[in-house]
Amino acid sequence: MSSPLRIALVLFFSLILLLAPSAQSGAGTIMITGNDTIPGTAASLNLSDGRLILGDIVKVFSLRTSMDLLGERLDLVGDGGSCRLLLDSPLVLSRGLFAVLTSPLGTAGSALSVPLDFLTKVLPALIGRAVSLDGEDSMTVGSPGTGSFDGIPVEDLPRYASFIERDKYQQPVDIKKVNHGLRVVVLDPGHGGRSSGAHGNAGTVEKALVLSVTEKLKTMLEDDLGIKVVLTRTADYFVGLKERTAIANNNRADLFVSVHANAAFREGVNGCETYYLSFSASDLEASQLAQVENKALGINGDLRQGPILEAILWDMAQLEFLNESGQVASRVQKSMVKTLNVRDRGVRQAPLAVLVGARMPAILVEIGFITNPAEEINLDRDPYQTRIARALFDAIADYNRALIRGEVRTESP
Ligand SMILES: [Zn+2]
Repeated sequence: MSSPLRIALVLFFSLILLLAPSAQSGAGTIMITGNDTIPGTAASLNLSDGRLILGDIVKVFSLRTSMDLLGERLDLVGDGGSCRLLLDSPLVLSRGLFAVLTSPLGTAGSALSVPLDFLTKVLPALIGRAVSLDGEDSMTVGSPGTGSFDGIPVEDLPRYASFIERDKYQQPVDIKKVNHGLRVVVLDPGHGGRSSGAHGNAGTVEKALVLSVTEKLKTMLEDDLGIKVVLTRTADYFVGLKERTAIANNNRADLFVSVHANAAFREGVNGCETYYLSFSASDLEASQLAQVENKALGINGDLRQGPILEAILWDMAQLEFLNESGQVASRVQKSMVKTLNVRDRGVRQAPLAVLVGARMPAILVEIGFITNPAEEINLDRDPYQTRIARALFDAIADYNRALIRGEVRTESP
């Protein structure tokens, strides 16, 4: 289809979506009350499956709308202000702030729809009046000048996820349905440059150790499996969090493996553990590890804090890859314990910043405790580093076979 025609068609259907009357499905009605007259009052909104038809809200509150040519961005303007919504995204942007709805701007039947919290999170900014929901079937609109947009500064967003620039990447639609093995793997040696990571008493430094291991693993994957391998850094320099996942996303990696070494206050602590992402740590230690690793990457805030967490969970690709990430993690953990004969500290989940935003299965492996004297001696030695790389290789090769056989479940939990 030629481009102008496509744009015209998309525009046409976008307008239909926006202007289509709401379907009467017998669901609830929200009565609107206010201290003074609401412009263009129809005085009620129909609610269906917890969603509202955007066209109804636009009409009732006399909002102006404009949609971009491809029908992906919708700007809403009212007497109090304006905001921008993105189709299929729960993000709402307004004057440098963002808020996150409980579900994305989507379609209900033939019309655009929004979740109920649109009324409290977005509408006040548009009409400049406070809005409160009173139970299930009524809402109160306050006086002019009482409403504002209660958002988070947009500058905070890119550090956590790349989804605000959602039109820069493409959804990996359909590709997953074809059974193919790993084509591109991105290995992420932790830290680098000013971030040196954990230190051992004998002088072993995490950033150097993990680079050595990933270089060995790269060679094995390339030579034995013919997989293209990209490292997020190839020498001792600092790489930011965003860049690490961007490297993986831009290379359209099928797997992202971040390699770290662990530290503990008590010398006796040893063993290896493998992580994949979640926003609640599986245990206290996992939570502490996430804080340490996130801090090393310059993340000051707690990733698990409310709205940002919600934002990431909603739009983050990792969510759809959690099953696969878990399957890679368990293979890696099993292989490490078997090959290295070390204490099995298990597969864990934690809000690790470096895994957020990766649009492919992603894990982080802690290959051992640099603070444990015996483990440090091992970790510092080339043959042991080769064994670690071999253990990781075996796990990735096994996952690759499972992928080719179509044995890897890809549905979200
Ligand atoms: Zn680390």
